[in-house]
Amino acid sequence: MTQAPKIGLVSLGCPKALVDSERIMTTLRAQGYSFSRDYAGADVVLVNTCGFLDSAKQESLEAIGEALNENGRVIVTGCLGVEENLIRETHPSVLAITGPHQYESVVSAVHEHLPPVPNRFVDLVPESGMKLTPRHYAYLKISEGCNNRCSFCIIPQIRGDLASRPAAGILSEAEGLIRSGVKELLVISQDTSAYGLDIKYATSKYRGRDVKAKFYDLAKELGQLGAWVRLHYVYPYPHVDAVMELMADGLVLPYLDIPFQHASPQVLKAMRRPAHQEKTLNRILDWKRQVPDLTVRSNFIVGFPGETDDDFEMLLDFIEEAEIDRAGCFKYEPVTGAPANDLPGVVPDEVKEERFAQLMEVAQNVSFHQLQKKVGRTIDVIVDDVRPEQNRAIARSKWDAPEIDGQVIVDNADGIKIGDIVKVTVTDNDEYDLFATPA
Ligand code: SF4
Repeated sequence: MTQAPKIGLVSLGCPKALVDSERIMTTLRAQGYSFSRDYAGADVVLVNTCGFLDSAKQESLEAIGEALNENGRVIVTGCLGVEENLIRETHPSVLAITGPHQYESVVSAVHEHLPPVPNRFVDLVPESGMKLTPRHYAYLKISEGCNNRCSFCIIPQIRGDLASRPAAGILSEAEGLIRSGVKELLVISQDTSAYGLDIKYATSKYRGRDVKAKFYDLAKELGQLGAWVRLHYVYPYPHVDAVMELMADGLVLPYLDIPFQHASPQVLKAMRRPAHQEKTLNRILDWKRQVPDLTVRSNFIVGFPGETDDDFEMLLDFIEEAEIDRAGCFKYEPVTGAPANDLPGVVPDEVKEERFAQLMEVAQNVSFHQLQKKVGRTIDVIVDDVRPEQNRAIARSKWDAPEIDGQVIVDNADGIKIGDIVKVTVTDNDEYDLFATPA
């Protein structure tokens, strides 16, 4: 059985170094890594060092030595990292050395010495694009593992059952991220709506208050921290209804990423999907009535074993009727160790191709019409990139998650910087993107 790669983290030094450590942990956690409390359980140990005073240097070198003795596989980052020669002279066997605030290099060093285990059907960040997030947004992982047993997925085998983090730890991490410049939090897990179930929604103290480890309570608290809060991997359970009120109040973005994977009851049953018996179409329509701006992003698998033409038609109808604003699609392929591999009714590759093309066409039409409704509106966008030579900014609206959704292309973007949240007026659209000018 493949294990989730485990990292031990030793963090020394000032509060800034701690923020760096948190940021590194946030990123690695989002990429499927877990953290070990002791040296022995870790596949690699990351030592975030301090090099401000001689005594701090000494302490850092000793910490590296201890990690090498106890574990043997050590990556060094932080302030002492600028003195690579000193570290190499004292501890020649460290695997890699990076300096302070170099999230990108430290995460690359971890990837090199302890590769992540991606799962293409369920990971938000695609295998090809495991890049680090820019500093204005961050993935916030609220739990590990999963209690569901979808037949195409091996995540529970790799990462175990649902293990929720206490609410206070998540909120402190979110606060730290916001302090370090993050303006958008992307809440992720394998099943966000199940958050807290395993720990019986236990309360923990945050700013002197008891906060429940519950989907609604956590979303509400996160919404009060002042950053955009985007919810990923939510299943359409009845208790999710309550979050609409947080969206209507502007605490949480009007956006839900619900990986439906299919719409036909018989395929969903064969997939053993959570919430497959819920009245999903009515629920989504009802949510959209309550929060007219709600964008639903989803992912679908075509060509799952046993999927008939009728099942597939049902899926296309669902995308149109539920007006799934953003849809991604995978052609089914077996994942080593997944129970679905033994299901009868293998769908031929050419049929998968056809269905994929058809689904993408339907999804594009829906997306185009949904985006067309935004033309003429003045909206807030967050800026991911600037192209000074074209006087253009590449931004996203509240309806777009980074990496997977569309963009807002802003012209006449004089003075706009990466990470800014600015008001723009939407002038045009295509199938995926909006075009705008500053308002
Ligand atoms: S919900 Fe299903 S697909 Fe997602 S991680 Fe859990 S078992 Fe895998």
